[in-house]
Amino acid sequence: MTDGKKMKLAVLTSGGDSAGMNAVVRAVVKTAIIKGCETWIVREGYEGLVRGNSEGNRHTYSLEKGTSSPRLKEHPDDFVHNLRYGDGELLKDGTGDHPGGRTLRGRYIVRVGWDDVRGWFAEGGTLIGTARSTTFRTRDGRLTAAHNMIKEGIDALVVCGGDGSLTGADVFRAEWPGLVTELRQQGKITEDQASKHAHLKIVGLVGSIDNDMSMTDLTIGAPTALHRICEAIDNINSTAFSHSRAFVLEVMGRHCGWLALMAGVSCGADFIFIPESPPDADRWEDEMCQMIQKHRDVGKRKTIVIVAEGAIDSKLQPIHAEFVKNVLSERLGLDTRVTTLGHTQRGGKPCAMDRILPTLQGVEAVEALLESTPDTPSYMIGVRENKITRVPLMEAVKMTREVAQAIAEKDFPKAMSLRDPEFCESLEGFYATAVLETEPKLPHHLRMRVAIMHVGAPAGGMNAATRAAVRYCIRQGHKPFAIHNGFVGLLDDNVHQLSWLGVDNWMTRGGSELGTNRKLPDIDLGAVAAKFQQYNFHAFIMIGGFEAFTSLLLLEQGRKHYPAFNIPMVHLPATISNNVPLTEFSLGSDTSLNALVDACDAIKQSASASRNRVFVVETQGGKCGYIATMGALATGACIVYTPERGIDLDMLRNDVKYLKRRYALDAKGKSEGRLVLRNEVSSDVYTTDVITKMFKEEGGKLFDSRSASLGHTLQGGIPSPMDRARAVRLSLKCMAFIEHHHQELLKQQARSKQAPPESAAVITIQGTAVQWVSVQDMVEHADMKNRRGKHAWWDGMRDLVEALVARPQILAKG
Ligand code: ATP
Repeated sequence: MTDGKKMKLAVLTSGGDSAGMNAVVRAVVKTAIIKGCETWIVREGYEGLVRGNSEGNRHTYSLEKGTSSPRLKEHPDDFVHNLRYGDGELLKDGTGDHPGGRTLRGRYIVRVGWDDVRGWFAEGGTLIGTARSTTFRTRDGRLTAAHNMIKEGIDALVVCGGDGSLTGADVFRAEWPGLVTELRQQGKITEDQASKHAHLKIVGLVGSIDNDMSMTDLTIGAPTALHRICEAIDNINSTAFSHSRAFVLEVMGRHCGWLALMAGVSCGADFIFIPESPPDADRWEDEMCQMIQKHRDVGKRKTIVIVAEGAIDSKLQPIHAEFVKNVLSERLGLDTRVTTLGHTQRGGKPCAMDRILPTLQGVEAVEALLESTPDTPSYMIGVRENKITRVPLMEAVKMTREVAQAIAEKDFPKAMSLRDPEFCESLEGFYATAVLETEPKLPHHLRMRVAIMHVGAPAGGMNAATRAAVRYCIRQGHKPFAIHNGFVGLLDDNVHQLSWLGVDNWMTRGGSELGTNRKLPDIDLGAVAAKFQQYNFHAFIMIGGFEAFTSLLLLEQGRKHYPAFNIPMVHLPATISNNVPLTEFSLGSDTSLNALVDACDAIKQSASASRNRVFVVETQGGKCGYIATMGALATGACIVYTPERGIDLDMLRNDVKYLKRRYALDAKGKSEGRLVLRNEVSSDVYTTDVITKMFKEEGGKLFDSRSASLGHTLQGGIPSPMDRARAVRLSLKCMAFIEHHHQELLKQQARSKQAPPESAAVITIQGTAVQWVSVQDMVEHADMKNRRGKHAWWDGMRDLVEALVARPQILAKG
């Protein structure tokens, strides 16, 4: 760990605001303090750097002067000193004025402490303000900015913004030595200041709702914007259905169609327009009308068309929502309305992903600054394959600009190739599920009867995955069969063929439309095989959690005795517990985290209202602590209990010690509610009730304690857009997999066909790479007794949860 004793670090947000920027500021400030840095925020983006602090306002306010807390004088060590250093109250007020006479007027570069950023998680936008600064675009502006930074002694900068902001960051760093020389020549800084500030350390984080930056899979704020869009479309769906209307929705995205595409996939839209893949200028109107008319002909009552703000045709002519509306009204006679979502897309509280990723990226940004030397490039912190990455900032900006360039040059294949593979797969997924073909694509002999079953507890995205599989089957000429109520339903002949229209509304439905059951096929393996034979299934898709995995194992082992199981069989993991081995994300886990975040925000609010309450919140998750741990990271909980680590008395003693010291450090009248997350089966003895009572007893006058059990609410209502989009992507891969293995089996000459072991497999996400693992190979990664994987990739996050509440520091101060 690098020592940041000497570093003075400032963080700013710039360009358009996005959800998750506050989580960045929080993580940067907290991590920097832990590493021994002095922490500052810059208000109003680069404009704040240029304006700086007016004379007489420079760093005049300090904790020692501004607070009456005598405790701080008794603890002059760095950490406690940093706990409440600054103007958090003022920043959160947003007014810049405070009844106590303190003011932010004239101060744009503000020293902040640990507690100044507390509770920032749930807030949308950016609490430190953002702006588009024309002055900073000029060299003079940047000279003033450099001067203001040097006056305050700041030598490192974290910038969170879009590609413009990151370009500005790189220009600033490149120019820095020249700016310092000029300031010295003008006599504005001393020789000592010039040598101390010879180099600027800078790092960028991408805050942008468009997800338009290359070299990172997700930008901060994009997932939340997608949530807002999908919520709006989900609401519009019901009125569109009632009146049999068409709606044309315009969503943000000037050069990037990610929001339009993902919304189109997640909401089951009929048609989308994105800049990277423009429709043929001479034909698109006919094509769109033909496609929508076909949907209407089979009985669809509603039509949803999504238009990205920057949508164009192949001749680069803009396509506007209003024009699309006129085409639909005039050509098809549809009662069509336009809805422009505008700034509602930016707003609102961040979704779980926009709390977790910015936190991890903020931590990495500070690490990168601490390791930075004059020879290292400025980095952009991104995320790739579920890992936080550092990439040279200018390379990422350059590649991003190339997309716009490729579009301008009508080189659309290049524009698509510069997007990540998931983007292209999602586009294919959209067409596979939205287009109703007149003729099936496959010849008769390759067509299958495909059985689909939900196994175990319901999870968000199960229905979306089923819908995608059904739509794909119909496009290819396969027959999709729903097996209702799991293996019990199969034995009861609860089997029905599904239709294209019948699954139309399933994208947004939570729970399980097929009905689930926890019973495994060994209730009567022979009878299950007989049913497979009776229905002449050629392939089998199971969507579910650990039970589905176990079921697949039993069926594969049963191949020795029952030829009916010699067909391709797949398991698509869907469980809120996220306990299927090897796969990092199961369908439903994102929905569940969002349900947890919503519930905990409400609980925390109630806990904060009573100022000093510790809420022990019980989560589901079986013997897997994923939801509790990631939930703790997403809600800023201070303690998390998981089955993997269990609970013992020493742990509890330390937890009580931590809570007591933490509450003792709170400023008078400024205590806050705190969350403790406990997985339901973390310990048989130290139950939620026992822990709550223990905290209450030990808290004495410092804090009170209550418990809350989230129970089945964690299954979530409407599945999250991420779960829906992921469901479509994975489900289509399952279909491609079974088609491939079916065709391989057809090549076998023998009367009794033998399916190879790899044809019974689980689809897993390892990084962003989707990997097939045969069910036999899965076994060695599975802890069958505890029903979870042997390796929990997220286990280390618990240390981060503790770091971000300063547990080690607080426990160390005797
Ligand atoms: P969004 O994606 O929301 O548009 P952005 O960061 O791309 O965010 P911009 O308006 O392009 O937004 O840039 C934000 C600020 O960054 C500008 O107002 C300007 O102060 C600074 N900036 C942008 N480009 C440069 C540049 N080439 N040189 C110096 N500063 C720049």
